[in-house]
Order: sequence, then C-alpha cells, then structure tokens
Amino acid sequence: MPELPEVEVTRRSLADAITGARIEAVTLGKPLRWPLGCPPQTLIGQHVVDLRRRGKYLLADTSSGVLLLHLGMSGSLRFTRGLPAAGVHDHFDMVTSQGTLRLHDPRRFGAVVYATGEQDPVAAKLLGGLGMEPLSDAFSLAAFQAGLKKSQMPIKQLLLAGRLVVGVGNIYASEVLFLAGIRPTTSASRIGPMRVRKLHEAIRVVLARAVELGGSTLRDFSNADGTAGHFQTQANVYGRDGAPCHVCATPIRVLRQGQRSSYFCPACQRP
Ligand SMILES: [Zn+2]
Repeated sequence: MPELPEVEVTRRSLADAITGARIEAVTLGKPLRWPLGCPPQTLIGQHVVDLRRRGKYLLADTSSGVLLLHLGMSGSLRFTRGLPAAGVHDHFDMVTSQGTLRLHDPRRFGAVVYATGEQDPVAAKLLGGLGMEPLSDAFSLAAFQAGLKKSQMPIKQLLLAGRLVVGVGNIYASEVLFLAGIRPTTSASRIGPMRVRKLHEAIRVVLARAVELGGSTLRDFSNADGTAGHFQTQANVYGRDGAPCHVCATPIRVLRQGQRSSYFCPACQRP
C-alpha cells in the first residue's frame, strides 16, 4: 500500500511537469472508492496551479478548485506525453497541455475527488481528521508529547490511526518504535519524555529517509517514472520475524495488533 513517503515521492516527480498545465479532457474508467463529484467537463479549461500533499492525499490546485487524489491500496500515478490507450486498470485519465495524468489502480480503493476548495465539505470530510504533517514545522515535540499524554491506546495503533501525526503507516510504525526503544503495545500516555523525544526524532528521520530513498518497495507501487523504491530493504525489524536484531542479535518477534503485524525486538524495545 502506498504510504506517505511514496505519495511525497510521486508528488515531487510530478509537480514541476504538471504545474501550469491546462486541462483538456478527462476520461473516467470503472468507479473508484469515491465519485469525482462533478461532471468531467467542469475541469476542462482549468489550469493546474500547484501540486501539494496532505497526509496521503495529493492536492492538485486548479484555477477554480482542488483535485484530491488518493492512491488507495494499489494506485500509482503517471504523468507523461504519449501514453498508450487506457488499460483495464486505468481508471482516470486527465489530458492536459503538458501531458496526461493517469491513475492506474487494479484494486480501485484509490480516488480522484473534485472540490471547490479545502473548506468545501467534500474536501473537509476527507482532510479534516488528519493529524500533524511529520515533515513540517507543525510537528513539534511539544504538540506530539501533549497528544501522547492524552491517549491510553497502544502506541503502535495510535500512530497508525493518523489523527495525531499522519504518515506513520505499518512499516514505518515498526521501524520508528524500534529506533525509540518502545514496544508496540506500550500505552501512549506511559511513554516518558526521553523516549517521546526519540520517537519524535525517529518519525522525522525515518520518513525523510524513506522519501530520499524513493519510498518503500511494495508490490504494487512504482513512482511516476515506473521505478521501484528501496526503503524496505533497509528495515531493522519490519518483515524480519525470527531474524537476529541488528543491534543485539535477539530474534525479532511479530505480534498482531488490530489485524496488522507489529515487528519488534523484545530486548531493545521496553514496554
Ligand atoms: Zn535488539
């Protein structure tokens, strides 16, 4: 599943190419997770003025509104000239003066939604519950600490929920908790200031590094150039059940939390 770093990598690979483009045609394939929310003709003649990201949404600001793009479980975006005819898994084509933006999404949990702005109820519903952006200045240690203090949830599940801080998906949650020395099952409010500081730092470092490396290597993901990312090969704990910890050689363990696998080192990570 594409996580925040993959979405950010996609944004960076598309932003310069698509900014300034005039929308000339929009073709929809099979239904995606949510409807477009306007007749495709609404978009024709509008220009793409910016490409931003909020959580795992790409926000393509247009002359009169904003297109929210989500990659769902298996989506990927390409923007190029001279794409072949849409295939069976291509469900959104936006032809512009600078190339065609195409959403390829075999499982169709992705979406492209048009709203008149971020305050539009359609957009507010999707963006309103999102936590702090981990790579922005808004993600302060003080705000993070205050959020943790208020929650009795296991820290892994609090991070995954995305309401305190966005972007810490399943792989990254295991990795940052390893770096901070915290068991995935530890109640958020019980984590002391020292480990909160380590966790805050780890979230920033791990996500920034994942973006630099091109995002996680995940089966269905490729960035806009069609090349796979490299983050997963660098994992300390994720996917390493039974393998020796890189720090202390204790076998890495796995447990299930809310249907998701959490990997941890029982020696390096304290409850
Ligand atoms: Zn260890």
